[in-house]
Amino acid sequence: MSPQPPFSASGAKPATMPRIPVAAPVLDGRETEYVMECMQTSWISSNGRFIGAFEEAFARFIGVKHAIATNNGTTALHLALVGLGLKPGDEVIVPTLTYIASANAVRYCGATPVFVDSDPHTFNIDPADVAAKITPRTKGIMPVHLYGQSADMDPLLALAKKYDLFVLEDAAEAIGAKYKGRNVGSIGNCATFSFFGNKIVTTGEGGMVTTDDDELATRLRIFRGQGMDPQRRYWFPVVGYNYRMTNVAAAIGLGQMERVEHHLSIRRSIGEAYNQKLAKLYNKIVPPKVESWADHVYWMYTIVLGDTVAPSRDEVMARMDAQGIETRPIFYPMHIMPPYFEEFARYPGADHASARGINLPTHGLLSEPDIDRVVAALQQAID
Ligand SMILES: *Cc1c(COP(=O)(O)O)cnc(C)c1O
Repeated sequence: MSPQPPFSASGAKPATMPRIPVAAPVLDGRETEYVMECMQTSWISSNGRFIGAFEEAFARFIGVKHAIATNNGTTALHLALVGLGLKPGDEVIVPTLTYIASANAVRYCGATPVFVDSDPHTFNIDPADVAAKITPRTKGIMPVHLYGQSADMDPLLALAKKYDLFVLEDAAEAIGAKYKGRNVGSIGNCATFSFFGNKIVTTGEGGMVTTDDDELATRLRIFRGQGMDPQRRYWFPVVGYNYRMTNVAAAIGLGQMERVEHHLSIRRSIGEAYNQKLAKLYNKIVPPKVESWADHVYWMYTIVLGDTVAPSRDEVMARMDAQGIETRPIFYPMHIMPPYFEEFARYPGADHASARGINLPTHGLLSEPDIDRVVAALQQAID
């Protein structure tokens, strides 16, 4: 039984509690001022001071030589794969448990994503399964730092070295996350980020490629700008793309990066608050497993329902929704989606997480009473 909503003093209308969204951007720095500067100077397209300033601030924060801004995280992935030389017929190893953009970017190159399993509680790529899926056509590995925690990079780097493969980190969800003290985005040959409205740092729509490789960075800038020769304007020696970021988006991004430590510290305290407040439910739910070497930034605080919880995952989400709490299901794995369907493949870790996992509201506008409401609604929903 759900309690009756409280009624206002007038008795006329139910005073319903505001809904708690699963994600929300925090734009409390100089974003508005910088966007106004774009408007007032009319630098609204893909030239202007904010693009270089945003790229520089981003590269410095991640600890890499080059950051190349793009118009979204999916084009960042595609651009990176083009720059790394991926061709039709090649294979890239991708976790089946990820957002569809990771797999689609491989397909855009005419190459094949080869799926591997993930750990059911860290939600990250299983290095043992990667080793099992390498073939003579494999060109690279794409670990995805899912929900804000780094994948286990050392075994992947060792495999890449042994078989001469690239490592492209999909760090869309994990700005500021660390692996053994190193920032994600500085570990593989190349990495990509997303600045969609629900990501930790946002530009509305936007993306970034990071790398320490000077030649790769030059290629990425050429392919991003329609393939134009940097020495000869309007001469196009290759087929490129228009994947440029606007100065307006970069203005928002610079405002966000000036306060990135603030945005990250809120995420960490939300993660800690959930860990504490959910402890009483640990006989029924499994909290996100944090590896000893990881610095988790909690893009999405993600739980898995235990076997003793009778209602289905979707039923639990529907009950929370009725209490005004928006949640999200864990990603459906790639191998059950129509474009990538594999009838007989089994990925036990990814399948379990996907069937029983829920992303709880995680964003910088959540208050402690909000977190209490989420926990109470979850407790009620799983009873
Ligand atoms: C958000 C995201 C992307 C890129 O998304 P865009 O919406 O194109 O910016 C890529 N991979 C993962 C894992 C993501 O979460």
